[in-house]
This record gives sequence, C-alpha cells and structure tokens, in this order.
Amino acid sequence: MRAEIISVGTELLLGELTDTNAPFLASQLPLLGIDLYWISQVGDNQVRLVEVLKRAWQRSDLILITGGLGPTEDDLTREAIAELLEEKLKVVPALERELRELFARRRIEMPPTNIKQATLIPSAEVIDNVNGTAPGWWVEKDKRIIIAMPGPPREMQPMWYHQILPRLRQTVTGAIIVSKTFKTFGLTEASVGELVSPLLSSANPTLGVYAKADGIHLRLTAKAQSQRQAEEMIAHGEAKLRSILGEYIWGTDDDTLEAVIGHMLTEKGLSLAVMESYPGGLLAATITSAPGASTYFKGGLVASSDEALRACGIDAKVISDYGSSSAAVAQAMAEAARLHLGTDIGVGIAGVDESNEVEERLVTTIYIGIDDGKDKRAITAHYPPWDRAWVKRRAVTAALFWLRKILATA
Ligand code: ATP
Repeated sequence: MRAEIISVGTELLLGELTDTNAPFLASQLPLLGIDLYWISQVGDNQVRLVEVLKRAWQRSDLILITGGLGPTEDDLTREAIAELLEEKLKVVPALERELRELFARRRIEMPPTNIKQATLIPSAEVIDNVNGTAPGWWVEKDKRIIIAMPGPPREMQPMWYHQILPRLRQTVTGAIIVSKTFKTFGLTEASVGELVSPLLSSANPTLGVYAKADGIHLRLTAKAQSQRQAEEMIAHGEAKLRSILGEYIWGTDDDTLEAVIGHMLTEKGLSLAVMESYPGGLLAATITSAPGASTYFKGGLVASSDEALRACGIDAKVISDYGSSSAAVAQAMAEAARLHLGTDIGVGIAGVDESNEVEERLVTTIYIGIDDGKDKRAITAHYPPWDRAWVKRRAVTAALFWLRKILATA
C-alpha cells in the first residue's frame, strides 16, 4: 500500500506553523508496514487543494490529510474531497443534532458556519472527534482510502490512535490488534524487564517496556482474528503481569496518578492539603489537573524559605535541628498543611541539591511526608543530576504513588 500525506493550512506556507502532523503520521506508517511515498503541504485554497488531491488520487492508495476541517470559510478539505470525487456534500441530520448538542453543553450558540462540520459525501463515513467539533472523514472509493483528520494535534492524535490506527491495521493485515498499557512506579526499567522477562520473549501477545516521566509503562499487544480472541489474550496477559508486578501497577491506559488518587479520596470521603518547597507548586498543580479536584483538595502552600516555613507553621526548632530539607521538616509540613487547612490528609515535600562528596557529582535528595492524623510518615529519595524540572516531576510522582499506597490500605 502506497501512502501519501497532505498537510493543509496557509499558516504552514507562511512559516508561522511547523508541520508536526506529517512527521507524526510518517512515524506511524512503518508500524503498519505501509510505505510512505510523498508528503505535501498546501494552503487553504480549494483549487490548489483539489490539484494536490488529484495527483495523490492517481498515485497513492492511502491519502492522509490533516487540517482544513474547521467551521470557517477557509476550511476547505471537505469541499475539496467532494470536488475530487464529484460527490455532493449534504448535511446529515444526526450529525447536526450531535453538533448542536455539543454547543448546548458548552452553553454557546452554534455559529451558522459550523453546520459545515455536519456534512458528508456518500462515500465518506464520520470519524468521531472526542476533543473537538470537527469530525474526521473516512472515505473509501475505487480501492483507495482518504482519511481526513483535524489539524490540531491534540484532536488528531487521539483520533489516530483510537479510531484510525486499529481500522487501518485491520484493513492492511486482516487482523485485530488490541493493546493495553500498564503503568508502574517504584521499580527501575531494568528490574521491571527482569521481572517480566518470560513475557518479553512471547511473540503474541507482545510486551514492550518503556520508561516515562510517571514510571515504567508496559504495553501488552495481542493480535487475533477477532476482537474477543484478542481481548481474551490481553486478559490472560494482564493476570500474569499483575501477579508479577502487583502493587507496583498504579493504573492502565489513560489513567493519571492524580485522577486515580482523586477517585480514591472521593470514594473514601477524605480531603487533602499539601505544603511543598522543592516542587514549587507542582504538587498542587498536578493534583488540580484531575477533574473535580476541588471537592477533595482544599489547597496547597508553597514555602521556599525558612521564613515561609515558619510562617506556615513549621516549628523553628525542627528547622534548626534537622535543616529545612529533612525528613522531619517534610513530616512537619504534612502535619501543618493538614492542620492549617483542616483536612484529613496532609502531604509535604522538601528537597535539596547537594554534591555527593564520594562521587563528586550533584544529587538531589527529596523528602516526602504524609500525615493522616493517625500516622506521620516520611520517605527519602535520591535522584541523579537530572534537570530540575524532571526531578520535580519525579518527586511529585513519588509522593502521589506513595499516597495511593497509603489510601489503598486506609
Ligand atoms: P479547527 O477546527 O481548529 O479549525 P482544522 O482541522 O480546520 O481545525 P486548521 O484550521 O487547519 O485545522 O488548523 C488549526 C490549528 O491546528 C492550527 O492553528 C495549528 O495550531 C494546528 N495545526 C494544523 N495543522 C497542523 C500541522 N500540520 N502540524 C501542527 N499543527 C497543526
């Protein structure tokens, strides 16, 4: 199968926008065994867009288009495909209803031009866009496939992963592929690899191990002749993985630690407050990224100096006896956050960059305290000389992972 990518948008030609969609799609096609022969960029001009499409139609079996699906007059991808295939665009009532409902949910009146996004030609099928108003198009005609996707990567990529990739894979290989990602924290990539080594050699399902900011991820991928068969293989693999990695697995697929914790706190009816020095607010920012966080998260204090720590209720003696970055202060921060904001649980994070005299290099030591009113606990973690932003992320992940563990047994 010969593929071709077309990126649509005048911004691309003016040098105002770098095309990241084409490289993304280009990196995906080899995974499907599809050969990519051409990439083009074209402005928001119907004549030139049709010209590029006609050339693609003559030489390619699969044409991937991004951009130009918006509601405005210069969004012309739908019109150009209709012209290429000599088909008429028609408003589909069901699509129009969905679009109007979407605007009603957002409490905005639908601009009349948005109706464009509810149109189809007879050879096209809708590809749902969960992150925007512009649905994609899947067009099959004369043994060729045209797939039109929205321009914004945050809309295009989920559409690609969840809807287009599985369908294309089935078209190309005749097989169903199902995959599931398991997210772990607290183990190194090497130790995860070692623990799951018997599964790593399996050809189907396959298992991949990837180091990510929030821990080590494992992706299990099964290939079968039917969805049910593939799902059974995944369930079987999942049982094995869980028996090996147990409590190190904190979530799957799109789960985030903050959402997992939010869910647990809500279920248990518990509230949370934090105080942080080293992360500079990242802990609070991460916790509030979970939808509905305001119901259980009462607030966060950022104390970057001894004065601020004292002002936030940390005993001056604890600071002078143990140092402002210490397990004792992290514990005191957790307790002070809990008491100040009147919550069930408090979390404190302190940390310091120090030079390791033996190895003569910088290490960061992070102290995490958790206080649930019954127990006060603290853990210490050391990080190599990574950049600060990365250490802050790891510290926050470590704190949330540990909090999850405590909540699981609470
Ligand atoms: P919208 O519904 O937002 O109008 P669209 O499908 O019409 O989406 P465009 O109007 O072409 O897409 O582009 C909208 C935005 O999407 C651009 O301003 C840009 O931020 C992003 N975008 C579009 N094409 C690309 C691309 N090839 N690479 C990276 N970003 C892109």
